[in-house]
Amino acid sequence: MAAIDGLPPLRAVIAAHGLSARRSLGQNFILDLNLTARIARAAGDLGACDVLEIGPGPGGLTRGLLAEGARRVVAVEKDPRCLPALAEIAAACPGRLEVVAGDALAIDPAALLHPPVRVVANLPYNVGTELLLRWLTPPVWPPFWQSLTLMFQKEVAERIVARPGSKAYGRLSVLAQWRSDARIVMTLPPEAFTPPPKVQSAVVHLVALPAPRHAADAAILGRVVAAGFNQRRKMLRASLRGLAPGIEAILEAAGIDPTARAEEIPIEGFCRLARLLAAGAAHRP
Ligand code: SAM
Repeated sequence: MAAIDGLPPLRAVIAAHGLSARRSLGQNFILDLNLTARIARAAGDLGACDVLEIGPGPGGLTRGLLAEGARRVVAVEKDPRCLPALAEIAAACPGRLEVVAGDALAIDPAALLHPPVRVVANLPYNVGTELLLRWLTPPVWPPFWQSLTLMFQKEVAERIVARPGSKAYGRLSVLAQWRSDARIVMTLPPEAFTPPPKVQSAVVHLVALPAPRHAADAAILGRVVAAGFNQRRKMLRASLRGLAPGIEAILEAAGIDPTARAEEIPIEGFCRLARLLAAGAAHRP
């Protein structure tokens, strides 16, 4: 690891490469290498894993991942200004860092990764939720990743791990917890970043379950949850009306009070409903 330790401090890297932070790219850098090492450790044992990092920026977390022993890191960065700084890290760790220049929303890096794969990222806030939703809803399960260790605004992190009955419980909570174990492993104040964002941040660690907690068709469950939480103040008999004729009777058959609201329904209840909707659709002419 000595070669990584020999790299210049991140402030010097930023100055040398003119990496003034751009808000349009969600650039809030972490310059404290002790902190990036802690985030890397929160991802679990990296030694036998390929790591996908989105948005390495000047490479603070990338260095942490490599120093903590990641077998290989594939890092996708949209800002071409960061590429020379990342090339210096790659040179210090021959064969262990592959930098992909481009937009993480447009690139599928799966072909570059060898299982087992862990995803670790201080995500750009403007694309973080979209990327998480994609990782949570792949065409087949288990997904390409074994775990996701991701920085979010604290409020988004709380939505991911929220339990039924709480204000934060919503579509993200159901989709995340249906097929993974999700917990907040770290909370960070704005001052941990340069420049500091306006909000607190938190790291969420999600571990993919080998199979969903409860049987359900992913697409139907996705539609039920989207409809239920899009109009979360409405009773389910109203918010889900468009999903199938006779929704009130279907809710009752699923053991759900039609006057309840989506935020009261545990994941198991949504899955029961999705199964009944699938069975009903199969019988409808
Ligand atoms: N990982 C670095 C750190 O922890 O200091 C930087 C994190 S910063 C919050 C987000 C990074 O994501 C920036 O480097 C930004 O250029 C990059 N980024 C923004 N949008 C992106 C996208 N669509 N695809 C890939 N990278 C993106």
